[in-house]
Amino acid sequence: MQTNSFLRLDIRTQAILRESEARFRRLFEEIPNIPMQGYDRDRRVIFWNQASERLYGYDEKTAMGQRIEDLIIPGELREPIVQLIDNWIAGGPAIPPAELELLNQAGERVPVFSSHVVLENTQGYREMYCVDLDLRDRKQAEQAIRASEAKYRSIFENITQGLFQIDSNGRYISVNPFLVTLLGYDSAEVLMTHLTHPEQPFYVDPNRYCELLQQLNKTGEVRNFESQVYRRDGSKIWISETQNAVRDSQGILLYYEGRLEDITLRHQAEAQLRYDAIHDPLTSLYNRAYVAEQLEQILQWQGSNRQGLWALLLIDLDRFKVINDSLGYVVGDEILKILAQRLRSALRSQDVLARLGGDEFVILLQDLALPREIFAIATRCMEALRLPLTLPSGTFSVEASMGIAQGTLAYHSADEVFRGADIAMYRAKAEGGGHPVLFEQEMHPRALARWELEQELKQALAQEALQLFYQPIIDLQTEKLTGFEALLRWNHPERGWISPAEFVPIAEETGLIHPLSWWVFRKAAQQLQCWQMQFPQAKHLTMNVNLSVVQLKQTDLVERLQRLLQECDLQGDRLKLEVTEANFFTVSESTLQIFYDLKQLGMGLCIDDFGTGYSSLSRLHQLPLDVLKIDRAFVDDLDFDLRKQAIAHSIIMLAHGLGASVVAEGIETESQLQILRQFGCEFGQGYWFSRPVAAEQAAAWIEAI
Ligand code: C2E
Ligand code: MG
Ligand code: MG
Repeated sequence: MQTNSFLRLDIRTQAILRESEARFRRLFEEIPNIPMQGYDRDRRVIFWNQASERLYGYDEKTAMGQRIEDLIIPGELREPIVQLIDNWIAGGPAIPPAELELLNQAGERVPVFSSHVVLENTQGYREMYCVDLDLRDRKQAEQAIRASEAKYRSIFENITQGLFQIDSNGRYISVNPFLVTLLGYDSAEVLMTHLTHPEQPFYVDPNRYCELLQQLNKTGEVRNFESQVYRRDGSKIWISETQNAVRDSQGILLYYEGRLEDITLRHQAEAQLRYDAIHDPLTSLYNRAYVAEQLEQILQWQGSNRQGLWALLLIDLDRFKVINDSLGYVVGDEILKILAQRLRSALRSQDVLARLGGDEFVILLQDLALPREIFAIATRCMEALRLPLTLPSGTFSVEASMGIAQGTLAYHSADEVFRGADIAMYRAKAEGGGHPVLFEQEMHPRALARWELEQELKQALAQEALQLFYQPIIDLQTEKLTGFEALLRWNHPERGWISPAEFVPIAEETGLIHPLSWWVFRKAAQQLQCWQMQFPQAKHLTMNVNLSVVQLKQTDLVERLQRLLQECDLQGDRLKLEVTEANFFTVSESTLQIFYDLKQLGMGLCIDDFGTGYSSLSRLHQLPLDVLKIDRAFVDDLDFDLRKQAIAHSIIMLAHGLGASVVAEGIETESQLQILRQFGCEFGQGYWFSRPVAAEQAAAWIEAI
């Protein structure tokens, strides 16, 4: 029909039409972004604009006259498309616009959105025009989006953190598989419905959940919020949550997204650390730190409220060292555990029981009405400790000393309370142990002075404010110098010279004796080496040093002494170790071996202050003894006191009987010297010959040999 009307157009109109067609043609030819192609009824190209050239690669000349199916239709589409086009051109149904992948000149697939129109040309033939919009950019963008989606999905699914989204009503929108496993669910769906249920408790502490919501509402986020939650099976885990609100461009809340981490292990580790910090590992009782903390609280509270009686009970087992030394540490530890249990059962549930280390326990009593309750509990504890202990190795009984500090407003710090109980405990020990002693204020000044001395001694050692003096040891027959005893001196800035008899026991109690003694040993050995190099006649001289019984606990004592000898290039027999007799009383069988090891190095062993201790003869026989030193007490007045003469004489004979030689200490007069010489005493030291002197004066003695 159109053809007929078209035919009826007059020449002029036809000319106008052609002109208009040419104008549109040019227009489409030159529009840069719209690829347009025209095909005749045989599907041959009759129109190919520059944009088509850019899209498909063929220029207009090459394309013109080619069939569409030979040019841009891929093999698998050829037949259906040819069919569709032919149908349409023949008057059949129109081809709807479609997304297709067509071929370019290089044989690559080009995604296009193709729209078509069939028009009748001036000759009345139907032609098809196509506009193919280039979809390459869009496809690329889509692909990139798909890739990144896949990437994020994979992160979401594989990350070792629980990820989730929650809507503003607290309903889960999505959760990742890790979260599902973490919370012990079979699937994300079950988790989401289960946890959304209002009856379902998730947070162990509902208040914690309220806090989380409050924070979220206030700031729109929570960071590393830690709480304990229930898993599906009811077990509990600790989690750390981070959540933030996600809003649209208008600021309207869309949902919350968050991540959740399992921190149970960290929590357990922290709890363990907290536990360790306030517990004694051996007995699982509390430790000193915990009691100190509790005391500080009591003291604070006491400042504002004067009611409530409290007390600190310090217990020290008597002679526990002997048990440890004779039965070994394993049994010692076992006994400590049993005693800990006994103490616990002698106490009320609210009483705090702690072990301070070693054989010391402490009890903190609170909420007492009457002072006598303190003593009732204290006595109960002492009795519990005293009950016989039956072990595979035998039955034992343990005695203890107890010092009590009763709460008063005079205390300002936990340390002061501990010190009070400590002082009372020492008093209890001094009184023979076995019963509790209450700290009284007048005990204080002495104890405080002791404490200060300890601090100052530490400083003196660090600042090398200590000095060694040397007292000559003389051969009584020839009156010649045989060696020296090194004696420690402390020149205190305020108090002047302080006797080692005063500060050595403190050093022994505090462990300061170790660095102190090693300083003495090194100094004395170096001094002897120095004299040996300086004076040829000093070669045979010996150096006596005093060994504290505490040092016998040092496992590397022998090794260190050996090293010291090597360092100072000294023969072993140039050094002699003096151990006070009284100390042998407490030395265990196993420790005796140390003396044999020292003997191997050639070192001499002297029993110091002999006659003041309680050595049994059998004990003396066990020792590789070189020298017995008769204590000054028997030399003093020797010239007048016949009883002392008898004792001195028998000591000398005893020593000789043991194969040891004798040094008499504290010879102050010539007649003392004469008597000792008569008794066959080989050596002596004392003011008669020389006081202990500084190194320079001692050197004068060597020169005079
Ligand atoms: P000690 O080992 O029995 O030393 C002998 C003590 O008697 C020394 O006292 C000495 O000065 C004193 N003395 C010597 N001759 C006479 C005398 O004729 N008359 C009188 N009245 N006293 C005399 P010092 O130096 O005060 O030492 C006392 C104790 O301190 C020593 O007794 C020893 O047990 C201990 N000591 C000294 N230096 C050390 C050391 O470096 N380490 C250890 N662990 N203990 C030491
Ligand atoms: Mg001595
Ligand atoms: Mg002595």
